[in-house]
Amino acid sequence: MTIEKLVRDSVKRLKPFSSARAEYTGNAEVYLDANESPFESDYNRYPDPHHKELKKVLADQQGLQEDQLIFGNGSDELIDIIVRTFCQPRVDIIRYIAPTFSMYEVVADINEVGKEIVALDHDFNLNVYACIDRQTPKHKVLFLCSPNNPTGNSLDKDRLIHVIAGWDGIVVLDEAYIEFSSGPSLVSKLKKLKNLIILQTFSKAKGGAGLRLGVAYSNPEIINYLKKIKPPYNVNSNTQKRALEILANKDLVDKHVKMIIDEREALVDNLKDLRGIEKIFPSDANFLLIRCHNHKSLYNFLIQKRIIVRDRSKMSGCKNCLRFTIGLPEENSKLLALIKEFYS
Ligand SMILES: *Cc1c(COP(=O)(O)O)cnc(C)c1O
Repeated sequence: MTIEKLVRDSVKRLKPFSSARAEYTGNAEVYLDANESPFESDYNRYPDPHHKELKKVLADQQGLQEDQLIFGNGSDELIDIIVRTFCQPRVDIIRYIAPTFSMYEVVADINEVGKEIVALDHDFNLNVYACIDRQTPKHKVLFLCSPNNPTGNSLDKDRLIHVIAGWDGIVVLDEAYIEFSSGPSLVSKLKKLKNLIILQTFSKAKGGAGLRLGVAYSNPEIINYLKKIKPPYNVNSNTQKRALEILANKDLVDKHVKMIIDEREALVDNLKDLRGIEKIFPSDANFLLIRCHNHKSLYNFLIQKRIIVRDRSKMSGCKNCLRFTIGLPEENSKLLALIKEFYS
């Protein structure tokens, strides 16, 4: 497969915006090139458009080359950049699983790109054949998510690899919850799977949702096309600085991930025999999807008690399901006590 064939013509032709700071890469004494304010502060200069320091540290941690990374203002921005790089509005089509994260659908709608849904099977695993069946040259991008949101499970690794290898286009694998997973990331497969883009984020396990920072890993050819349409200053300087602090403090992230997983398992143990709880779906993430009796009343009861959870009951395969994010131990205890009270 040639990547070039998949890229929108307008993107191939595009001459990207070249920022003042991008044309000169050395260290000067006087900067009079970007119409910035000369009065020194933490933020009077434009941020590094190439996110060089951040890229170097994260590439090292992931065992990748720096030209295999691109950062976005959250993974949300990267999803949009990917769709706009490959999909011609009103012509091309993306495919995604259901149920899953709703941003793929929203981005397709914003860009007037066609949508096709492939249902996951009854235990929310991947149907390999259905994913790759009836693909045409207009089917440019397939979105997969593992561990999946809102179901919490990881998709079977062998099936994932079969789908990626069998799809004649771009596959985006969203690994927003990978730090919580018992299974490995597919980052190590990027060398072999040339059509694969992996998304990760600072918003979940890394504790940086307010920073707005997502990252895509792929091969340099794909990354270069994405870079062409990236807004030059999409990641602000404060975010770049704070993200470096997070990456330098891996022990703290690991400790928090372990706490969340322990809390998740404890909550499963405490809920599984409760009357009213019909099914707790296996989770590799920092949340639980639970099918429960009178889910709407439980939802409203919790709101009355000032706890907000997510009603996912309208999503495909998620009838009567609520999604609970794992919080601090005292928050989870409060949730558990209230669920017990509701069903007693
Ligand atoms: C939360 C989440 C994200 C994160 O998006 P950001 O824009 O990086 O905050 C991405 N994908 C999935 C599936 C998510 O659940």
